[in-house]
Amino acid sequence: MKGQSRKKRRAKHHKPQRIEESLQPKHSIKHKKKTHQHQNHVNHSSASSNPPKSSSSSSSSSCSFIDKARARLAGGHFRMINEKLYTCTGKEALDYFKEDPELFSMYHTGYQEQMSHWPEQPVNMITKWLKGRSSSLIVADFGCGDARLAKNVKNKVFSFDLVSNDPLVVACDMSNVPLDSSSVDVSVFCLSLMGTNYANYLQEAYRVLKPSGWLLIAEVKSRFDPNNGGADPNLFTRAVCEMGFTSELKDFSNKMFGLLYFKKKEKKNSEGREIEWPELKPCMYKRR
Ligand code: SAH
Repeated sequence: MKGQSRKKRRAKHHKPQRIEESLQPKHSIKHKKKTHQHQNHVNHSSASSNPPKSSSSSSSSSCSFIDKARARLAGGHFRMINEKLYTCTGKEALDYFKEDPELFSMYHTGYQEQMSHWPEQPVNMITKWLKGRSSSLIVADFGCGDARLAKNVKNKVFSFDLVSNDPLVVACDMSNVPLDSSSVDVSVFCLSLMGTNYANYLQEAYRVLKPSGWLLIAEVKSRFDPNNGGADPNLFTRAVCEMGFTSELKDFSNKMFGLLYFKKKEKKNSEGREIEWPELKPCMYKRR
């Protein structure tokens, strides 16, 4: 599979699209528009409309003003890096962070801030799934972030991301991970199908999975909402199955993310047909 030509992998490049969804629950977005107070609580970039009130302690009010300004700046940086990651290839993303690894920490501070507003985090769903199975299953976590999965299960987890700030994480572009073919039982992509060449990541996951191994994908729901410019989940599922998987679960019941679970077939699909990968639109954050 690894030798399959890049020509066959047809995840199209696309323009960034600003979508009306942030990575925060919709109900909190509505509230944000109504009250400045709440806006500041959930949104980095909203402090401009809410200057510090005079108070008995001017130092504490200037402190909170500085904090807000910092948070606004951090929110802006986060959105910029996020947009970059969704609109470039994995190789370009690797080079981007190599030039300035600080950007990776900035990204993850913003990411964790956003995630703290989600009612349920997809990484916890995947953790639960793994805990319900044998801890002898070997896992590859593609785009692991802070390696939360590896830290929360007993399984052997190989954790990959573009930058390593933790001894558990191997820094690499996940289209080329340092694992033998057919060596893991579970490949995980938790909100990490970011690059324009995402099909390469899935090909790599296929390569390292043992026959009957699991491919677990959690993705932002809007990316699979055809009514809002997202991909048709059926077309995505079909493309993954054409690679040599069977679809085992499609769960879009969560408000924020969808879960798509697959199993690698015992036998390889006969090669030849070019796989039509649907475009997965970037998940952008509104500037507020
Ligand atoms: N899976 C983690 C982190 C999700 S954020 C969690 O659920 O908490 C998405 C992560 O994917 C980021 O850390 C980003 O750096 C990583 N990523 C994106 N493209 C990548 C690539 N080509 N190779 C390795 N990691 C990548």
